[in-house]
Amino acid sequence: MYLTYHCPKCNQTNRSSDVSEASSLSCLNCDWERPFSNDEVREQAIPSECLRCGNPDLWRQKNFPQWLGLFFVALGAISSSIAWMYYRPILALSILMAFALLDMVLYIVMRDVLVCYRCRTKHHDVDVSQHKPFDHETGEKYRQEEIRRKEAEDETTKKDA
Ligand SMILES: [Zn+2]
Ligand SMILES: [Zn+2]
Repeated sequence: MYLTYHCPKCNQTNRSSDVSEASSLSCLNCDWERPFSNDEVREQAIPSECLRCGNPDLWRQKNFPQWLGLFFVALGAISSSIAWMYYRPILALSILMAFALLDMVLYIVMRDVLVCYRCRTKHHDVDVSQHKPFDHETGEKYRQEEIRRKEAEDETTKKDA
């Protein structure tokens, strides 16, 4: 299992090495470090909580970038329209179907990742079976929490100034 996460200290995106044997998560760019508390979670690669912030709410998603899917759809549509223009309807249809198939295959072979609702850390190479796909209600809860946290942060900076 490895993680991609934002360091809370220097805000850089990190991609950790395999953490199954590690005792802590440490930033590659600064001295931020978080010791792992739950050994079982790491060794069995079945995260019940976020390994970066300890939050128990995680959602599973395909590690398939949305832009790539859209790109294939667009490419399929364009090449198929070109075939239509040259009066090749069967070719046009085959192109569309080939791209749809490619999209599907990619979607299936891409492995799921677990994403933390709070800090958006991605957990790769894990057993995702215990987690549900993204839930909008939970997502909203964490979005509100983030807004309140930012407001509180602004308040403290104002008071300090
Ligand atoms: Zn850092
Ligand atoms: Zn987290």
